[in-house]
Amino acid sequence: MTRAAEALAKFKTIEVGYDLTKLTDDIRDALPHLIAALDVVTDIYLRQQDERLPGLWKKVMAGADEEKKRFYNRFKGPWDQLSDYATVYPDDLPDRAKGCAFYPDGMDAAALEAAFAKLSAAEQEKLRDTYTVVRKEGGKLIAIPYHEYHRADLERLAGHLKKAAALVKHAGLKKYILNRAEGLLTGKYPETEAEWVKLTDAPLELVFGPFEVYADGVLGLKSTYEGFLLAVDHEKGARLKEIENNLDKLNAAFPMPAGAKPAVGGMAPMVVAHELYASGEAYHGIMTSAFNLPNDPWVRGNVGWKQVMIYNIMQAKFKTCTSVIAKRISEGRITADFDPYFFFVLMHEVSHGLGPAYRADGTKVASAIGSAYTTVEEAKADTGGLVLLLKMGGKYGVPAFGKRPLLDSFFAGLFRSMRFGVHEAHGGANVIEYNWMKERGVIEVKPDGSFETHDANFAKAADDLLEELCRIEAAATPDEAAAFVKKWAHPGKDILDALEKLKDIPIDITPIYTR
Ligand SMILES: [Zn+2]
Repeated sequence: MTRAAEALAKFKTIEVGYDLTKLTDDIRDALPHLIAALDVVTDIYLRQQDERLPGLWKKVMAGADEEKKRFYNRFKGPWDQLSDYATVYPDDLPDRAKGCAFYPDGMDAAALEAAFAKLSAAEQEKLRDTYTVVRKEGGKLIAIPYHEYHRADLERLAGHLKKAAALVKHAGLKKYILNRAEGLLTGKYPETEAEWVKLTDAPLELVFGPFEVYADGVLGLKSTYEGFLLAVDHEKGARLKEIENNLDKLNAAFPMPAGAKPAVGGMAPMVVAHELYASGEAYHGIMTSAFNLPNDPWVRGNVGWKQVMIYNIMQAKFKTCTSVIAKRISEGRITADFDPYFFFVLMHEVSHGLGPAYRADGTKVASAIGSAYTTVEEAKADTGGLVLLLKMGGKYGVPAFGKRPLLDSFFAGLFRSMRFGVHEAHGGANVIEYNWMKERGVIEVKPDGSFETHDANFAKAADDLLEELCRIEAAATPDEAAAFVKKWAHPGKDILDALEKLKDIPIDITPIYTR
């Protein structure tokens, strides 16, 4: 197998469906223009990674090497995301540069910092801005704003958006599309991001522009272009609204040790949506199944943000990876369903806002238990999510599922997370939950190393774990919290052997969108 074929095989191609007849005619007519606009987002992302890539991309796409076309399209370049962006086509381009094309060739962090230090504060501010590229002119570093540097592409982008906006009837969405196009052309980002956050009754979530800074491995400053086109699920949104309106009643499921107080304000605004298209950084390698945007601190502080859960992408991942994992390690005994899993993930997010947030002495839980906090908090969010579904199902907007489907979807999710690493906070939290449930007889390891689940003790075991985690958050010293994590987050041979069996199951999906 070629290196490209090997990398592609880790992603299973699957259709992520959506019933387009649920959209109104004007929106359906606007889709091709919106998709064309998002393809320009990809063009910008290509150039942000390497100045030579846009030309190379055209040559590859016009060529006859089908595997190469698939690879370039899937990874948005010749680099394998899962191998730290090593090149798979060394005759095309070398490994992706640590600073992509944000900085002058060959300048590392130390060289940049040294050069920045010689300049005025105003110049430095522009060079460090997340929306500029840094270039050398006459031996001096200069900052060029994205809206100037990518002008030609951004004008094409605006052209497609204007055609889309002319068709869209929803007044707020129409205005946002036009303002965002103008905002990207003039460098006014936060204003139009705020407009997107406030737009809560539109049929689409249309998110595009420079957002994340993961690609800048040199200074971690520069943002890359990405685009999401999503259909909003207003039915599931209504359920979320009901959950949001009943947070105080849901908090009653969390043991609150004496004096501890929950967070005020409650839940982050959540949206459930279905992906119709993604582009730029959002369609390269591992697909995003949820995002929380924008990142701009002014918008987050003054207007807020949206947490978007992408239902059909999560469903496709679940079908090709998570449920296959559960079947494999249980010798076919455990069949996990998607809906309980989806609402478990949703209630995990709700649970982050419930339970102890402040201690009796007023200190924040987040700063009171030291480095164990993220692992304990992730375990609390998972366990709280389980307890809410088990105790409150059928009330306050929480859907009702049986104990058995909940347990089996939860079990599948444990191994899904542990597969991505048992030592970071999410993986560690899942090891804690696994070990706890195993000790209570909820998870059984058979002599051949396969697994079975038993629901008799499930609700009680979840209650007890939640009580312990809330006690740690409200009262434990950093040493006690660390000792708890050390005891429970240790992956045994049973876990490691099981993970070994999953090597050939796809890591992720390659989505094909409904047309
Ligand atoms: Zn979490």
